Amino acid sequence: MVIVMKDNATESQIKAVSDRLEEIGFRVHKIVGVNRTILGALGDKRTVDLRQFQYSEGVHEVLRITEPYKLAGRIFHPEDSVVEVKEASFGGERISIMAGPCSIESEEQLFTIADAVKKAGAKVLRGGAFKPRTSPYTFQGLGLEGLKLMKQAGEQFGLATISEVMEISQVELMDQYVDIYQVGARNMQNFSLLRELGKSRKPVMLKRGMAATIEELLMAAEYIMAGNNYQVVLCERGIRTFENYTRNTLDISAIPVAKKLSHIPIVADPSHGTGRRDQVGPMARAAVAAGADGLIIEVHHKPEQALSDGAQSLYPHQFTRLMEELRMIAWAIGREIN
Ligand code: PEP
Ligand code: MN
Repeated sequence: MVIVMKDNATESQIKAVSDRLEEIGFRVHKIVGVNRTILGALGDKRTVDLRQFQYSEGVHEVLRITEPYKLAGRIFHPEDSVVEVKEASFGGERISIMAGPCSIESEEQLFTIADAVKKAGAKVLRGGAFKPRTSPYTFQGLGLEGLKLMKQAGEQFGLATISEVMEISQVELMDQYVDIYQVGARNMQNFSLLRELGKSRKPVMLKRGMAATIEELLMAAEYIMAGNNYQVVLCERGIRTFENYTRNTLDISAIPVAKKLSHIPIVADPSHGTGRRDQVGPMARAAVAAGADGLIIEVHHKPEQALSDGAQSLYPHQFTRLMEELRMIAWAIGREIN
């Protein structure tokens, strides 16, 4: 249930409603908007007579949330949420681009790519240290050594960093090394991991599971937010369909749908969404045109030698060119990439 306070509600009126909600067993989330305050009440409302709130002083209206997601929903938080990390911003007018290798492979590899993506205008360096590989016999990532390189590269090139967290035991460790936790598609419904990330105060980029509906994605975000971590960014990375020319089918329509249902920023991953270098640019451009708040793109200076996902990694010069195209598309829809 959501209680929308009047524009001119006083602090004491807001407090009185909030106290009453808590008294009868609700958990209250207070959202102070530009014009009005909204009180989100989470709990079992079956035995409560909601009319008592309708006529309380300072109350504009009482809304029931019928969707299963509450904190993640638009009703609860009508304005777009903005997640800011160093120079990157997701959810506002500004669109930020994350780029880097699929996996961190060596200092030379990571630093060469970080330098190139920084010069092209990326604000976040991506790179996996713990890799969720389909085969246990392929490269699994450099682990801690990779995280250390990530931190150094981020500092040297003035980039925020993002890397995938695969299990609860890595959460605390990674906290010292990266700015944004990435939850991979295969872990979107790892509820114990999501709960653990809910205790963190660092942003989490949550990738859509390859067979997950948008509602399931929002419910996964709800797990993180229920722990009071509101810094969540959703990521559309393609879903499994019958089409097999591309690795996945990038669901561009998930972007406006998620934006309609939720206030949480959403970015797109055209690299995993297509699996093919020649399709990354068109899908990146489409995602920005569709309203994505950012992109995450794989870039490698020697993709033919990459230890993972070389076939979908852009060469640095392709990434630089794409950034220029994306700036024009952003401008055409009243947004900005910088
Ligand atoms: C990745 O970003 O490197 C990755 C493994 O992505 P996903 O979880 O979307 O497959
Ligand atoms: Mn990858």
